[in-house]
Amino acid sequence: MAVLEPGDPSELARRAAAGFAERYAAPPTVVGRAPGRVNLIGEHTDYNRGLVLPVALPHATYAAAAARTDGLVRIASASQAEPWDGSLDAIAPGSVPGWAGYAAGVLWALREAGYEVPGVDLHIDSTVPLGAGLSSSAALECSVAVAVAGLLGLDLDDGLREALVDAGVRAETEVVGAPTGGMDQAIAVHGEEGCALLIDFDADVHRAVPLELGGRTLLVTDTRVTHELTDGGYAGRRAECEQAARLLGVPSLRQADPEAVERIEDEVVRARARHVVTEVARVEATLAALDAGDWPAVGRCFLASHVSMRDDFEISTPELDTAVSVAVEAGALAARMTGGGFGGSSVAIVPDDRVAAVTRAIDAAFALNGYRPASHLVATPSAGAGLVEPVS
Ligand code: ADP
Ligand code: MG
Repeated sequence: MAVLEPGDPSELARRAAAGFAERYAAPPTVVGRAPGRVNLIGEHTDYNRGLVLPVALPHATYAAAAARTDGLVRIASASQAEPWDGSLDAIAPGSVPGWAGYAAGVLWALREAGYEVPGVDLHIDSTVPLGAGLSSSAALECSVAVAVAGLLGLDLDDGLREALVDAGVRAETEVVGAPTGGMDQAIAVHGEEGCALLIDFDADVHRAVPLELGGRTLLVTDTRVTHELTDGGYAGRRAECEQAARLLGVPSLRQADPEAVERIEDEVVRARARHVVTEVARVEATLAALDAGDWPAVGRCFLASHVSMRDDFEISTPELDTAVSVAVEAGALAARMTGGGFGGSSVAIVPDDRVAAVTRAIDAAFALNGYRPASHLVATPSAGAGLVEPVS
């Protein structure tokens, strides 16, 4: 059974600082940390002004940084062979190819927001799996944003946190060109230990929801089928949702009447819209069930969400369907695919004493089906972004 450990934050900050010192022959000034996330429920609802309920992972990305005086930017990552360097002034939408765009894009967006961003050396290290639907992209953006705020000596108050979320969103949507909806950066920055985060994208508010797991584990299974958010599937779904809202004459699907949705003529557009309106209702039902400690009801919400993503939104895969059904058969109280889809991960709520049985059953089913071995992680609800003192 492969279980991905999150690592100790100060030890990982030390590793990032050591990687920085080896590359640039001087120690970093700060190390920023931002977590990945697993979304409990509320998928493809953020850009439809709906509700989401993510949890920040203990797995995080660490950005070691030092300012430069010559306006140059150098970006390297322990996960990538190719570093990037260029001038700060040249960073703009479309100007930085590949992975470094997520980091460089944050520098651009913070400058656009009026911050006096200096040239900078960056070295990135992470325990968030890349492209697994656990938001390594926002973890990267927000770790860089927090590191730059640290270099500028800014106080990480509520106003600055909002600005860092916005910078991450602009980096991803405008500089990289992935039309994601903003959930990932919000949880990476606002996550709280022991809590999920309820975000309402219509009212533009969020609140921490304490998760009383008492004897239950949030188990994430990475199917290791990677998606590419920039390759069209995600953007296509988003366009269909916008089309549905236009047909219904509402500003977003959050305002759509479920009965009107059923009258949309185009079968595909109707199904996409149905997923969104029913998914928002399921977030509300899940909150009520969690509040009441009604785990069977949470399980029904998760399963209905999975079926909706599989059949109406059509973003599941055979691997995800297998991970979900086998988890439930082996004792999970609730399971669903999570994240943008087309691969990625599932999330299950499992009694502590069933975790080993569930992971074993998934591994066996994957082997039987000839799928790549999955990797599992325990999603202990963790804190959002901040600076970390490396141990020396
Ligand atoms: P997810 O956010 O679900 O992991 P995305 O496709 O949104 O998937 O983002 C993954 C991409 O983000 C990677 O392919 C890479 O370009 C970039 N990325 C994320 N984390 C890192 C990292 N630690 N180092 C370098 N690039 C990263
Ligand atoms: Mg992402």
